[in-house]
Amino acid sequence: MTRWAFPVFAAFMLLLPALPVPDFWITQSNTIGLYALVTLGLVLLTGVGGLTSFGQAAFVGVGAYTSAFLVTKMGVSPWLTLFIGAALAVTIALVLGAITLRMSGHYLPLATIAWGLVLNYSMANAEGLGKYDGLLGIPSLHLFGVDLGTGRGLHVLIWLFALLGALAVVHLLDSRAGRAIRALKSGSMMAEAMGISTLRYKLVAFVMAALLAAASGWLFAHFQRTVNPTPFSIGKGIEYLFMVVLGGVGSVWGAFLGSGLVRIVEDELQVLLPKLIGTSGNFETIVFGIVLVVVLKYAPDGLWSFVSRWFPTPQRARNWGQAAALPARAKPKRGEVLLDVQKVRKTFGGLVAVNDVSFQIHAGDIVGLIGPNGAGKSTTFNLITGLLQLSSGQVKFRGQDISALATRAIARLGVGRTFQHVKMVPDMTVLENVALGAYYRGRAGPGMAMLRLDRSEEKQLFAEAERQLQRIGMADKMHELAGNLALGPQRLMEIARALASDPALLLLDEPAAGLRHQEKQALGDVLRQLKAEGMSILLVEHDMDFVMGLTDRIVVMEFGTWLMEGTPTEVQASPAVRAAYLGTEH
Ligand code: ADP
Ligand code: MG
Repeated sequence: MTRWAFPVFAAFMLLLPALPVPDFWITQSNTIGLYALVTLGLVLLTGVGGLTSFGQAAFVGVGAYTSAFLVTKMGVSPWLTLFIGAALAVTIALVLGAITLRMSGHYLPLATIAWGLVLNYSMANAEGLGKYDGLLGIPSLHLFGVDLGTGRGLHVLIWLFALLGALAVVHLLDSRAGRAIRALKSGSMMAEAMGISTLRYKLVAFVMAALLAAASGWLFAHFQRTVNPTPFSIGKGIEYLFMVVLGGVGSVWGAFLGSGLVRIVEDELQVLLPKLIGTSGNFETIVFGIVLVVVLKYAPDGLWSFVSRWFPTPQRARNWGQAAALPARAKPKRGEVLLDVQKVRKTFGGLVAVNDVSFQIHAGDIVGLIGPNGAGKSTTFNLITGLLQLSSGQVKFRGQDISALATRAIARLGVGRTFQHVKMVPDMTVLENVALGAYYRGRAGPGMAMLRLDRSEEKQLFAEAERQLQRIGMADKMHELAGNLALGPQRLMEIARALASDPALLLLDEPAAGLRHQEKQALGDVLRQLKAEGMSILLVEHDMDFVMGLTDRIVVMEFGTWLMEGTPTEVQASPAVRAAYLGTEH
């Protein structure tokens, strides 16, 4: 989105009440602002994070009921209840999130339906909350002695919340924490290998979405002046999801567009449809259902994707020229034992995928791990990086036993890796993807990001990312979307991302697979250059020719077992290796 668009939009929405527009418009706009607060959270949670929640309406209810109850029954100031409601929503989100966010696939959405129902029924059945009748007589909000009422005055406050919420989400997404959240959708494996705790960022997105919903609920209570359980039901939760899908699930602007369209169309249909059909009823629900199917089929990115074509996102300004270098780790001395793999074993049921394999990597060496398909190379690799649990054996890195460590802990010790099948965030730029590799060299969290207090560190992270892209000769592509690159450059980008973590050891899983001849040569040049710079590399490769010219030593595996280890010349001369590759008995 262009730079001026947000200030213009914000100014217009905040000044709208001062214009001679009918009261009805203001009421509509108030509701749209309230919806937008909730859908902004869903953009972050569902659109960006890939975590579907049907239960957001329940968090709106938490904010609304907290204020309604405390203000009407206890005489607490509404400005205080805003914070109490927010604190309650955060607490509930942390508890529910800790239990449900570990779930994957369809279990998470189902769990959100379950707790959405539980929260909603609790509201509907609590004696103190007025059961199905709810609570009446909620006062309007006052600010500096001025009654904000439920129209033009409140409009300013609602839209101030919605616009600040949008700004917070936009800032968050463009940050170290935001890139971690954006990486969630590509599966946890890559993010964890970058040193990111995926559970932590799922919780961040979940809590943020709950906070925005609770703020909407607080405003809603003082806008309606009454609360009852209906607007906080699962049905409403589905409607919120509908709004983001319609508008554009991945974009902050889509949240506003979807909220606005649903509110306006819903209102029109409620008048129009009964006239057409001749009886009254909630027929708009049927229309929405049909629209949703059509949108999902023909515009899966939502309607905003059509609008956004007219407002191209400007290229990130390269403002990190003067940034200080990130702290670097002490590098191992040449020749020191860097990785010590001792009798590692992995069984899958009856299959012994890796059978007591041992080898060492000395600092400064490039070691090839080769063998026919299914030999156990990737499995060995995943045992070293902690993606798989060892059945037995031990892995030591720089003298430390890492056998029981989690992937992200191993990454943080200085083991950088790429994947056999490229794992990246396709809708992030190459630069942002590489900056993901430098994640654990930064510190700024979500709060710092939302307040824009992370800018100097961001410059350091981008400067590092650009430096690594230069190192592999891809700096000219840094502003392209990673998903638009060909396979060769994508694999090189993964190497730059691994390098951005300042690794002491680089593990590359079949980096040459699927590459064209020229791309293979470019990759070979990059690896030779890294070797010249003293980098230690474990290169898993299927292609013997590719590793021959590059490696100092080669470990050969076959059917999960260690077949031989030696220099490229020794391996090439070995009849056993030749037999393994040709598949003959030996
Ligand atoms: P390579 O990378 O050398 O081609 P892999 O390490 O991927 O081989 O696989 C080694 C063997 O282990 C293969 O027979 C493969 O089918 C099996 N294997 C790998 N991963 C799993 C898994 N998660 N569950 C069951 N079997 C697996
Ligand atoms: Mg493999």
